[in-house]
Amino acid sequence: MGEQVESFAGAVATRYWHRLDDGRTQCDVCPRFCKLRPGQRGLCFVRAANEAGEVVLTTYGRSSGFCVDPIEKKPLDHFLPGTSVLSFGTAGCNLACSFCQNWDISKSREWDRLSDQATPETIARAAGELGCRSVAFTYNDPTIFLEYAIDVADACRAAGIHPVAVTAGYICPAPRAEFYAHMDAANVDLKGFTEEFYRKVCGGHLEAVKETLVYLRRETKVWFEVTTLLIPGLNDSDAELTAECAWFADQLGPDVPLHFTAFHPDWKMRDVPPTAPATLSRARKIARDHGLRYVYTGNVHDDEGGSTFCPRCGEKVIGRDWYELTRWRLDAEGKCSACGAQIAGLFEAQAGRWGGRRLPVRLADYAA
Ligand code: SF4
Repeated sequence: MGEQVESFAGAVATRYWHRLDDGRTQCDVCPRFCKLRPGQRGLCFVRAANEAGEVVLTTYGRSSGFCVDPIEKKPLDHFLPGTSVLSFGTAGCNLACSFCQNWDISKSREWDRLSDQATPETIARAAGELGCRSVAFTYNDPTIFLEYAIDVADACRAAGIHPVAVTAGYICPAPRAEFYAHMDAANVDLKGFTEEFYRKVCGGHLEAVKETLVYLRRETKVWFEVTTLLIPGLNDSDAELTAECAWFADQLGPDVPLHFTAFHPDWKMRDVPPTAPATLSRARKIARDHGLRYVYTGNVHDDEGGSTFCPRCGEKVIGRDWYELTRWRLDAEGKCSACGAQIAGLFEAQAGRWGGRRLPVRLADYAA
């Protein structure tokens, strides 16, 4: 009797793959280029080759849970500040970062994690009824479930809700172009700035992530911000931060916000201490010295590093304490109320009032 090939019931067809001469199939969604025999899953675990050797997505419509978060938690500080975002993820990831801060989801190979059945229409309806201005693909990387993310994004846009991607940006050019055509905002991790760090600590390559960032800046209207999680001794040297900030200023310009966030020991990296607040402040100073206008420190209480300052007159235009807004000095067009300089981003006359709350949501309550 031949070997049983897993059939992946409920999986959906995908587009970015091709057959190899040796009978395997190559997935072309991300630069891992997994080469799969029928029945095999890719490194991300959620894409797999079916009996016919076609790459399918096995998690369409299944989620690891929903929560309403502040948009500042993504983090996005210049995209409808103070509003709430309905956040969800699936399972799996296409990187293998040993410092992962969401490892229970991203490394999940257990289907019981994927409890909520969630059609795109139900997600959009839930977001609307909950008063969320955006829906975020987060907790794990939407690159690996892009067909589902795109359908959810379209349903959200049809309901006037913004689709937001939280991603590592590790994606190939063709799926990248399709994916971002459906997104209104993104936060992209730039996990470090050496190829060695990406290879040894994340199991990926830096160049593909830089390409995504430059693509977003030059080829799209997607509002995006960038996050670097600083890990003591691994990616926080003056030399590495200087190289990152010089490249950032040159290729992305001064108006793309950059967040330096604090690491907490987790997953396979429990022997490294948490990031000292002084390290975040040092990184912020290096970035500002390179001309970046909006540089933030995250996962700490830091009045200066958490707030937005007018690049022309220095007025504190948005004050923040962690995810809470403490001050608002912008007019209806997002201009500094002291000097009239435009602040980059998407703003409205009033800040949102969601605050720092986190509200778990049972999606079944919103099914039609
Ligand atoms: S998306 Fe998944 S299956 Fe495809 S190449 Fe990347 S890790 Fe492999």
